[in-house]
Amino acid sequence: MYDLVIVGAGVAGMSASIYASRYKMDHLIFGETPGGQGMLAGAVENYPGYVSVPGPELMQKIVDQVKHYGVEVKQESIKGLVKIEGGFEVKTDKEKYQAKTLVLAMGASYRHLNIPGEEKLIGKGVSYCSTCDAPLFKGKIVAVIGGGNAALSGAIHLASFAKKVLIIHRRDEYRAEPIRVERLRQNRKIEEILTNEVTEIKGQEKVEAIVSKNPYQGSQEIKVDGVFIEIGQVPSSVLAGQLGVVVDKQGYIEVNPGMVTNIPGVFAAGDIAAIEGGIHFRQFVTAAADGARAAAGVYQYLQGEAPTPSWDQKLTR
Ligand SMILES: Cc1cc2nc3c(=O)[nH]c(=O)nc-3n(C[C@H](O)[C@H](O)[C@H](O)COP(=O)(O)OP(=O)(O)OC[C@H]3O[C@@H](n4cnc5c(N)ncnc54)[C@H](O)[C@@H]3O)c2cc1C
Repeated sequence: MYDLVIVGAGVAGMSASIYASRYKMDHLIFGETPGGQGMLAGAVENYPGYVSVPGPELMQKIVDQVKHYGVEVKQESIKGLVKIEGGFEVKTDKEKYQAKTLVLAMGASYRHLNIPGEEKLIGKGVSYCSTCDAPLFKGKIVAVIGGGNAALSGAIHLASFAKKVLIIHRRDEYRAEPIRVERLRQNRKIEEILTNEVTEIKGQEKVEAIVSKNPYQGSQEIKVDGVFIEIGQVPSSVLAGQLGVVVDKQGYIEVNPGMVTNIPGVFAAGDIAAIEGGIHFRQFVTAAADGARAAAGVYQYLQGEAPTPSWDQKLTR
């Protein structure tokens, strides 16, 4: 029986593995896609130590660091997690494994519009993360698609770099908090295009234009350099449900600041985790930090110490 199985080989899982190796824990790490979402990122400009680095290059360096400690990243799909005496059984598409503890780091994926041109131009002007990519659009024209808090915050953030920001929403009013709507409308660089659906993203090597359709006025082509699709994320938390791990209304795994879930021996880290009392900030650097804390929690658990803080312990501020 392994000390630990890490489910997910994105930044969170790999950071957990690096720390687990240094704690001398006998562990395995699984990832259908080693590198996770990082493999889709264009230039990453907010990870400490790099002014700018392509996502796949950053991920490869982290995979190399995991392997440096003699750990293999297993490219197997985990199909089932079951509680057994003294730990958990992990069933993949190839084999069964047993471990005393688990770190769940299955990540999340950005919702896509699934329109022509979108997949082809990811990283070439199509982005799902304004926090990540806004500085790449200095002096350019960008469109933000969505009407919730993320879309409006993204548009406001982008306006501090871009020449012009178009916010395009399919309804005639936003779902975002009124204070954000007010701030959006005060920003003279932002133009609102409501009751419009983007039906196509055009461009060969990079984004050149979008096609936007209004039910009354028909379609128009608008020249833009970038498109930010901010219509939410979907956490990959199906496996958590199999163990009875508590998830929030959106499906994110609830953890306390020690990355502890409600099931003893099960920890969660990265984009999939919703930290009690924390803001939802899903980035490489936060995923890496979560992974480190989860591994430290596992070590503590294996030593027979009660996790600090425990699941039941409420935050005192
Ligand atoms: C296009 C794009 C650009 C981005 N740019 C930036 C940026 O510039 N800066 C920044 O800080 N953040 C950026 N992000 C966000 C960043 O990528 C994420 O916050 C981070 O990668 C989350 O890491 P994670 O390990 O939690 O999850 P993920 O990277 O989602 O990794 C999840 C892992 O779990 C595996 N997995 C899931 N289910 C299973 C299963 N059943 N069996 C086996 N494996 C499974 C996946 O294959 C994957 O290996 C970007 C995201 C995207 C999509």
